[in-house]
Amino acid sequence: MIKYKEKEFKTAINKLKFPDSWFWARYTINPYSGCEHACIYCDARSQRYYLEDFENEVLIKTAIDRKLELRIKHARKLLPDVVGAGGVNDAYQPCEKKVENTRNVLRVLAKYKYPVNIATKSDLITKDINLFKEIAQQTWCTIGFSITTIDEDLAKFLEPFSSTPSKRLEALKTIKNQAPNVQVGTYFMPIIPFLEDNDENLKEVIKKSKNAGADFILFSPGLTMRDLQAEYFIKKLKDSKYKNIVHPLLDLYKGQIYPPADYAQKMYPILLSYCDKYKISIRVKRWIPSDYRKWNYKISELLLNKEYIDAIKTGKSNKTMMWAGLNLNNLEESILDVYKRGELLKLKNFNEKIVEFVKPFIEKSKNLKRKTGLDDFL
Ligand code: SF4
Repeated sequence: MIKYKEKEFKTAINKLKFPDSWFWARYTINPYSGCEHACIYCDARSQRYYLEDFENEVLIKTAIDRKLELRIKHARKLLPDVVGAGGVNDAYQPCEKKVENTRNVLRVLAKYKYPVNIATKSDLITKDINLFKEIAQQTWCTIGFSITTIDEDLAKFLEPFSSTPSKRLEALKTIKNQAPNVQVGTYFMPIIPFLEDNDENLKEVIKKSKNAGADFILFSPGLTMRDLQAEYFIKKLKDSKYKNIVHPLLDLYKGQIYPPADYAQKMYPILLSYCDKYKISIRVKRWIPSDYRKWNYKISELLLNKEYIDAIKTGKSNKTMMWAGLNLNNLEESILDVYKRGELLKLKNFNEKIVEFVKPFIEKSKNLKRKTGLDDFL
């Protein structure tokens, strides 16, 4: 039996130091704490989240929409940017049907023109299509369905209280058809070793997502195996018809949180070849503001995407490029002005190679002729 409790939280929205290059979120909002979906691999069970009994007790954050509106109205430094919902809770878990915390939060975000990115495992999300359409029209809206298998039996075991994969795909299709301006896709993560990493599953998840209308697939081979979360997952496996994977799984991880790097590296070419075959992007197209951040965000997207794609293709990550891309999001003037002063090398983590790479893109900008300063770019 799930217990629901109302609780007032101090903050409605959290600002991240840097956006991430997967979901591009700069802020996070969790309308609930705890998750009824109770996926057996969920990382929320690990000690780092301090969430006791997270699947049996859901905290409903009271007045979250009013708190959010107050914060937006009174914060001088809160610039509109992508708000992510659906971290270690699902914004569309069953109680949303009655409580509507997520819907109320979306209304506020739409009113103040904040872009939104939501990850879910529920087809309940289709109830808010009109709001997504409105947000996408004003700024940007991205919806990603977490789908890791098309085997309904396996999904029932792994994610007992979520919508089935076919219902999630149906919801994706509905959103794409009714709100084509919303970017939709599949979060193919975690891909669980020995259960979901077979060729047929990789191909089918990608193919079915594409057929449903997905614009992107984000994939991540392997799952984390962290303290209490790993214990719970292994216990569930041992009591199931999938118990034969316990030993191979433990052998693969050897007590570590992540599978060895060569595990993911062997899977990337297969995943890339299917994404290529079905012509589906492996990155989410970023929201670009129209103020002084415009070219900072464009160049940051370019650097972060290049770093990611090079890393999965070669196995070598370029941390300098990654930090150059991340730091650019916090620059308090336009990179175009820095370029005009001939000072690109002064930007954090920029080196000769990075400057050579970004220069042709900056030079293409029609905004180069504009006056220096924080004026509008439109
Ligand atoms: S839907 Fe997400 S947050 Fe909820 S239990 Fe599953 S993995 Fe955890």
